[in-house]
Order: sequence, then C-alpha cells, then structure tokens
Amino acid sequence: MSQSIGAPRVLLRSLREIMATKESAQARLNLIVSQIAANMVAEVSSIYLRRPDGSLVLYATKGLREAAVHKTRLARGEGLVGLIADEAKPLALADAAAHSAYSHQPETGEDPFHAFLGVPILRNGHMLGVLTLQNASKRNYMEEEVEALQTVAMVLAEFFSSDDMSELVEARSERVRFGPDRLVGVALYPSIAMGQVILHEPRVAVTRLIADEPFMEMTHLEEALDKLRTGIDEMLSRGDVARAGEHRDVLETYRMFAHDQVWVNKLHEGIETGLTVEASVERTQNEMRAQMMRSRDPFFRERLHDLDDLSNRLQRILAGLSITSVGEELKQNSVLVARTMGPAELLDYDREHLVGLVLEDAGVSAHVTIIARALGLATVGGVTGIIDKIQPGDQMAVNGLTGKVHIRPSDKITGIYRQKIKDQARQSAFYEGLRTRPAITLDGQEVSLGMNAGLEIDLPHLDQSGASSIGLYRTELHFMISERLPRLKELQASYANVLETAGSRPVTFRTLDIGGDKILPYLRHAHEENPALGWRAIRFALDRPAIFRTQVRALLQASGGQNLNILLPMIADIWEIEQARELINREITHHQKFDREMPVQIKVGTMIEVPALIWQLEPLMKRVDFLSVGTNDLLQFLFAVDRSNMNVAHRFDPLSLPFLNALAGIQKMAQKHEMPVNVCGEMASRPLEAMALVGLGFNSLSMAPMAIGPVKSMVLGLDAKEIRHFVAQLLGDNVLNIRTALVRYAQQRHIDIVGI
Ligand code: PEP
Ligand code: MG
Repeated sequence: MSQSIGAPRVLLRSLREIMATKESAQARLNLIVSQIAANMVAEVSSIYLRRPDGSLVLYATKGLREAAVHKTRLARGEGLVGLIADEAKPLALADAAAHSAYSHQPETGEDPFHAFLGVPILRNGHMLGVLTLQNASKRNYMEEEVEALQTVAMVLAEFFSSDDMSELVEARSERVRFGPDRLVGVALYPSIAMGQVILHEPRVAVTRLIADEPFMEMTHLEEALDKLRTGIDEMLSRGDVARAGEHRDVLETYRMFAHDQVWVNKLHEGIETGLTVEASVERTQNEMRAQMMRSRDPFFRERLHDLDDLSNRLQRILAGLSITSVGEELKQNSVLVARTMGPAELLDYDREHLVGLVLEDAGVSAHVTIIARALGLATVGGVTGIIDKIQPGDQMAVNGLTGKVHIRPSDKITGIYRQKIKDQARQSAFYEGLRTRPAITLDGQEVSLGMNAGLEIDLPHLDQSGASSIGLYRTELHFMISERLPRLKELQASYANVLETAGSRPVTFRTLDIGGDKILPYLRHAHEENPALGWRAIRFALDRPAIFRTQVRALLQASGGQNLNILLPMIADIWEIEQARELINREITHHQKFDREMPVQIKVGTMIEVPALIWQLEPLMKRVDFLSVGTNDLLQFLFAVDRSNMNVAHRFDPLSLPFLNALAGIQKMAQKHEMPVNVCGEMASRPLEAMALVGLGFNSLSMAPMAIGPVKSMVLGLDAKEIRHFVAQLLGDNVLNIRTALVRYAQQRHIDIVGI
C-alpha cells in the first residue's frame, strides 16, 4: 500500500487525462473509479452521488457488481455512505460490517470486502456525493491515504461542475432558471428596494487543479498569505477602522485566523498531495466549512464566516484581484446576495449604492443582520437556494416587510415595486420634514420619542431621525458581533463616542442582556432547554460579576462630567437590583479611588420585562431612579409565547385587555411615585400601538430610528386627553377587540397611522 502514498499526483494527472477524453460522462466515471482503485491499491472504488431528496445512488464502481450501478440507493443518512454525507467527514474502518451504521446491500456483492474508506465529495460546502475504497483484508487505512482520497474527491467535485458532467449532479442541472422567479424568506428589515444583483465576493472559479510544480505552488501560497496578512494589518491601521470598535474586533480575529497554524498546515498538505494552491485553498475551505456547518456549537458556526471570508480573500489575491474593490464596483442601486457573510464584510461595501441584502443562511440574530439593520438595508434572510438561481447583474426586488424576493421581476412586478419605492421615498421625505419638530399632541402634551440603538454605526440615525434621546442602548450588540470579549478600553472608547455623539441628548445604557437568542460565540454557554427563561441578562451578570463590573467601569470612565443612566435587564426580583447596585457601588468606589472625574449624576433603572415585577412595584420604586418597559419580553412572558418562534410569536395581541391592563398598572404606579417611565419594546415603534401607549398615560417612548417619523406624525394629530379617556373607557368596559376600536378612533379623527 505504500505505493499509494505520494501517488496522488500521478493519479490526479491521469484523472485529468480521462476528463479530457470525448467519452460519455458515464464512461469517464467508470474509467475514473478503475484508475482510483488501481492507483490506491484497492479492490473496490465507488462513487455515490447525492440526489435532491438526500439519498445517495451508486453511479460507478470498480469491484462491486455492475448490475448494482444506478440501482443501489441509500436513503438520507443510511449506511456508512449516508453517515459520511451527513457528517461531511471521512470514515476509515478496518471492518465495515462491525460499525453500527453499516447497512448491508447484497446486490452489490460487497460481502468479501472488510476494510472501508469513504470521503465526502464537496463543492462550495455542498454535498455532491461520496467516494469510497474497499479492501478484502481487514486493514487500517493510513492518514496519508485518507488525505489522498480527499484530494481526489475534490478534483472529482470540480469535474462534476463542468458542463458536460453536470447532468450527473441533478441539483446542479436544475441550477439556473433564467425567467422571473419569486422566493420567500424571513423579513429582517422593513424596507423595500430594487437593484442589480451583486454576488458577494463571487467565488473565484478554480480552473487549475493539479499542480505540475509543487514548489512553485508553495511559493505562491506564502506570497499570498503575506499579502493577506499585510492587507488586514493595513485595514486595521486605517483611521476609520481604528474608531469603529465593532469592525476592529472582527478584523483582529481575522488577523489571528490568518496566522492560524491549523489552517496554514492544511493548505500545505493540499499542495503536498498534488493540488494547485488555489485548489488547496478551496479544498481546505470546503472541508472545514462542511464540518463547521454541521456543528451545533454557535462558536464554530460563527467561525465559518471568518473562514469563508479569509479563504475568499486569499483566492482573490491568488487570482490577482483586489480584495477591497467591492465598494468601487457599485455604480447603481445594488442588492447584495450572499450565502452567508461576516459583519466586517458588509461594512466593506460602498454604502451609498447598497439598497438591499439577501442572505441564504442568516436569520434574525445573525451578526450580519444586526449590521444590515443599522445600515437600513432592505434585508431578507433564510432564502434557501437563491445563489443557484441568480447571476450577477440580474434585477432583483426585495421586500423587507414581507420577506419576498423577486428575481428578474416581470415588467408588472417591476412597475409595482417602482411605485412602492416611490411611496417609501415620499413618506421618508415627509418624515424628514418633521425631524426638528417636537412631538407635541394637539392639546400640548409633549411625548418624548427616543431611539433604540446598540452599535456605533447606529449613531448617524440620531440626527437623521430627530430622536430626542437614546432611550435604549443595547450594549450586548457590540459583544455579539465581536469575536472575543471586548476589553475595558474598547468599551470605554465606544461608550464615550456614543455620549459625545449624543451631546445633550440623554443616553440610557442597558447592561449586557445576553442569553436567550443572544449568544456570544466566544463564551461557552451550556445548552439550555429554555434559554429565554434561563441563565441570561442580569442573572448571568450577577453570577459572572467580572463582565458586569468591567462594563460598569467602562461606563463610569466614559461619562466623567456627564450624566450616566444605567438600565438593568430582565430583573425579576428586588434582590437582583440590590446586588447589582452593590456591584455598581463597588465600581464607583474604585473609580473615586483613582481620582477620576465622576459623572455628574448616576441613575440606575430597571427594565420591566418579567411579569413578577408588576407585583413588586411598590418596593421597586424605592430602589430605582427610572423604569423602562420592555414590551417584547413582557408580552412573551405574560402570554407564555416564544417571541422568536414564528409559529406563535404573533398569536397574541399587545392591544389586548390583559396586556394593556398590565401596562396601565405600571404607568399608574410610576405616576403615583413620580417615577420616570419609558416604553422601549417594538410596540412603541408601531403608530397604532404607540397611540394606545399615549392613551395609557405614557409620555416617553423609545423605538427603532425609522419608526420615529411615523410615530411623531401620529402624535401630532392626537389629542392626549381624549385618547386617555377613550382607552380608559375601553379597559373599563372590558372591550375585547381593542385594536379595531383604536383603528376606528384614528380613522374618524384622521390621525396618521401607517401600517394598520
Ligand atoms: C424588550 O424586551 O422589549 C426589549 C426592549 O429588550 P430586547 O428586545 O432587547 O429583549
Ligand atoms: Mg428584553
């Protein structure tokens, strides 16, 4: 068997010759398996290809029965071949039948063969099939043999993507449809856009697979890695990056990854087995990608973006393309389409012409989604299979309100979308006109309209929206898009920047609210059955006081000479506030010890998100300086309805008796104690709901920046006294359909309510 080690180069060359022949696809496959078996000294070599339903069909074999070809079909996950496809990992066994996943296929005549080696055939992280070897003796395959077979599998994957072989891979032959098409994903940011498709860093097509001079390949690799690393260093030293905390974090992790020895070793190994440097980069990316995608651990899944990003950058360097040209390419309105993408990559694009983002993989809490929202892009995620249906330059309409994506839209759809975009622009211009007007009701009551934020790139919205404050600064977003725990200095600089930009507008910093659906990839979090009810927010902070204290320390340092408002998330019981206050006091003492400038005033408030707090309002009033009602979580916990589960999230209406009564109780108690109270959940972002909140007596709301215009427009047409009276009546009369009553109320008075 030693003959097979080092042999892949010879094998790869003969495979290339086979592919160059004019034989039919099937005939070439037959030749390929014979060649592999001979070269790798195996009695059997077989190729199984994956069908759209996930099953694997035997397509060619040397050594098994001819009659089984195209007949033997393994269901998804069935047998050793199914296991390899599922796990995207090689499997080497001295005695296949002894493995628990073994499934006997008598028609193949495989009984005499004991040893088994199988590797996945992967392309762009997609599973195309499985390549196997079998031997009669119970032998152990060596590491080098596994490596060699993986290299062969990679070359096969490329062969399968060539036009004359594509009929073999059904998923691919169904690939591109050139007519109009419509796909539906998850709406991630409520804006509508249309433009030409930009494929995010279209993969550089690797055409040269087999190397003639490995030494040259190694030299190319080293040069390209050097360029990659220098490029990242240069980006890090750029002025704008140095300021932007979140972006900087991501790049620093790229720097670490670019020096990662495991990655570099794998690239070397690929070249040693006979691949060109480009092919080796692709093979390594495919392999690591497929394994990471199957990992349930969010840490590894997040690393996927780094790996893809870096591998693509390296390929672009090798192909002599510029890495940072992405921004310059956008000459007209563009919709970026990506399988998945890292937050830093999105920030690389020219923001002026980018209007939409469509992602195959990302969901609501993906880091790139957080950035896309901050940039105000029409965003739709979870659009499975879109990459296979589009070409760069195609037209695309994106509806971030409904999740619909129209590819190459018909004239009719284009017309409809043009109109929608015009309406959207007209609306924005109207709200823009309200920007500097205070939100005062017809009867003279001012309603403070603050904005919710969480990243430094949100800050321009403060001026654009005319928000009177940052009513909720979700500090966890910075932690979520960072690649490691942010350091004290970074936090301090970031918070100082927020305060400086806000100027005289108050800012309320909510301490870290992680857990639930907000996962920090670098912090190991044990699996929880009910994460929303689990070890999250203040619970985590009190158990891991170092992180909480670092954050408080950064806040104190950032706000010397200014007001500091600290908001505690997910408080369920009074003692949690006392413990948190104790930690804050310790930080204040520490701050004073160093003779640092103190904030002019420090206020500590709590979110009301957990219903239990509603029955502790009296004692609560003595312990806090302000309150903020988080209607997203309060609704989730009052109705026992998972806010992130789309099957139930919208099942119960916040404009309902139980919910409005709960809010009324909070408002009354706050009023009695002259306690400032704000509402900062999504409810405040919707004009009709915001009207109900004013009707309950709330006069401070905080919302997504783009909601400020519509809510202000509603406030300007509202009579506060009258709506309070009306809402009190609805609650007193136990009216069940409050929403309908409110809609009628608004319509009769011509109050501007968008989105009803
Ligand atoms: C809320 O729960 O309403 C809230 C504002 O907090 P978050 O949405 O960040 O959980
Ligand atoms: Mg919440």
